[in-house]
Amino acid sequence: MFLKGECADFPDSWSDRMWGPDDLPNRRTQYELRRAAVRICEACPVRAECLAFGIMVRDQYGIYGGLPLRARRQVLKTAQEAGFRFDPDDPTAEQRLARFIRENPEIVAAARERECKRRKTEQRNARQQRWRATTRSTGKAKAPAAATHTPPLQDTLF
Ligand code: SF4
Repeated sequence: MFLKGECADFPDSWSDRMWGPDDLPNRRTQYELRRAAVRICEACPVRAECLAFGIMVRDQYGIYGGLPLRARRQVLKTAQEAGFRFDPDDPTAEQRLARFIRENPEIVAAARERECKRRKTEQRNARQQRWRATTRSTGKAKAPAAATHTPPLQDTLF
């Protein structure tokens, strides 16, 4: 990332795993790194600019301005509903979007909230699916927590 933000001084080997597309094989460690990245973004002085940049370049991975992809899409959708014209060829678009984000911090909070709820729902559905699969294969009903041998990962990031 070329903006001078809080992440700028992290070595690439760390920042690629925290904000970038690299995933560690250990899901829990990866989750902790992403969560730490989000916390760092929250205190970043160029957060709005970073988020606008991430939206404009349409990066499908990573964290920009403390938000993962789906939450960034939500911010763009809200901005467009409020009249923002998304045109990647317009050299002023990124600046305009950053200004809109700075002036409307509640849309970032709303996008985070929505993403948080969505992830919780996905996790609940995944647990139920695993439980159903276990129940089908054993013919016995077990409590959902007993159906998996790993503790549930609260992968909400926020
Ligand atoms: S908002 Fe986060 S990813 Fe963006 S420059 Fe700041 S610390 Fe880096």
